Amino acid sequence: MPLHQGPAKPDERSLSVNPFYGEADPVSGMTEAPPKHRLPDGPTPPSTAYQLVHDELMLDGNSRLNLATFVTTWMEPQAGVLMAECRDKNMIDKDEYPRTAELERRCVAMLADLWNAPDPSAAVGCSTTGSSEACMLAGMALKRRWRTRNPDATARPNLVMGVNVQVCWDKFCNFWEVEARLVPMEGDRFHLDPQAAAELCDENTIGVVGILGSTFDGSYEPIADLCAALDSLQERTGLDIPVHVDGASGAMIAPFLDEDLVWDFRLPRVASINTSGHKYGLVYPGVGWALWRDRDALPEELVFRVNYLGGDMPTFALNFSRPGAQVVAQYYTFLRLGRSGYRAVQRSTREIARGLADRVEALGDFRLLTRGDELPVFAFTTAPGVEAYDVFDVSRRLREHGWLVPAYTFPPNREDLSVVRIVCRNGFSSDLADLFMDDLTRLLPELRRQPHPLTRDKEAATGFHH
Ligand SMILES: *Cc1c(COP(=O)(O)O)cnc(C)c1O
Repeated sequence: MPLHQGPAKPDERSLSVNPFYGEADPVSGMTEAPPKHRLPDGPTPPSTAYQLVHDELMLDGNSRLNLATFVTTWMEPQAGVLMAECRDKNMIDKDEYPRTAELERRCVAMLADLWNAPDPSAAVGCSTTGSSEACMLAGMALKRRWRTRNPDATARPNLVMGVNVQVCWDKFCNFWEVEARLVPMEGDRFHLDPQAAAELCDENTIGVVGILGSTFDGSYEPIADLCAALDSLQERTGLDIPVHVDGASGAMIAPFLDEDLVWDFRLPRVASINTSGHKYGLVYPGVGWALWRDRDALPEELVFRVNYLGGDMPTFALNFSRPGAQVVAQYYTFLRLGRSGYRAVQRSTREIARGLADRVEALGDFRLLTRGDELPVFAFTTAPGVEAYDVFDVSRRLREHGWLVPAYTFPPNREDLSVVRIVCRNGFSSDLADLFMDDLTRLLPELRRQPHPLTRDKEAATGFHH
């Protein structure tokens, strides 16, 4: 979560209270305005407190116009009702809420089946707060397995991955003191190269991370080729390096839309897979999933058993307490959609992404890096002749129309490249896509008339931090 600093100078102004809201105070008939940066001295009537918080939140953005996030912003009302019914259930109290625990178990089993675990009864997995926690757990399992293989206490572990990894992998390496070995981008390759990854491996490599798909441009990394490169590395050197697939988005897209793509537990080298239930799993934030092929892939000594809540259920998690509602909502969505339902939802999202990518390309001002045909996500930059404006101008001007579309520069070796990225999600309908195209098309003549790109202070101008 953001690390907030206290105010440099406490805001002495209190919250402003509309006189209408004061009715609930029986003595004065008025409510004293509560301070902003101190706990109020006493209670505020519930209706007043509700209105104050509600009014403050009114200024948050409209999530349906947010084309920056991968996270679910729409669910059916029935899912909302179920989640409300489970608000008081703590996921960790597995003995008190055995049915919630059972629904979690069924979700793990369904995912093991969806991701083609060779022996679903051997696969182990758990829910998490999101993919970040799932990646921490998977990384810890890789590190512990390496440590068991390699008892030399002076050896320093490393993890090999593309420079395009999501920030959670930088966190993992930082927090758990693992060297991050990054395969740079090269030319028009914006994700990991299998051969380059294999070359970075040595006896202290705990694993290689493959991403399905990249947050930078929505492309799938070539997981099967990566495994093949590591197979031949093993033949040459004897090094047996496991692969973790970060399927935060793609592990809930590829099984429905790219059934012939082999990226999952069908590849013997894939030890573990994570996904974000709250991205294309279609559940409100925060739920993720981590699965291991079998018990060998998840060292038993990382699993905790606590008996002080009653029962003795094994757990693997960073958190202790966690809401149960999202897990229940995930089960609801699995049950509600089934395979063909997920396929229909994801297909329509991807068709909207592809159609929109084609129309953006047809404007003539832009060059597509990806076309929305892997993740329903595409990235584009300005075409070679375009000098009056850049992608940061596009992002800033779209914001004036309510659209949140991030612009950012790429990592090494393509820092020269800046792109705009559009993430299509369920809820971004083709009608909304039409409105987006209308707005973008209307902006272009003005952008073309600019003397030069205007958004000098890039980050400050767009406010997006990748
Ligand atoms: C979003 C994302 C993450 C982090 O997932 P959260 O669920 O937001 O914690 C990790 N890896 C990839 C590839 C992602 O797209």
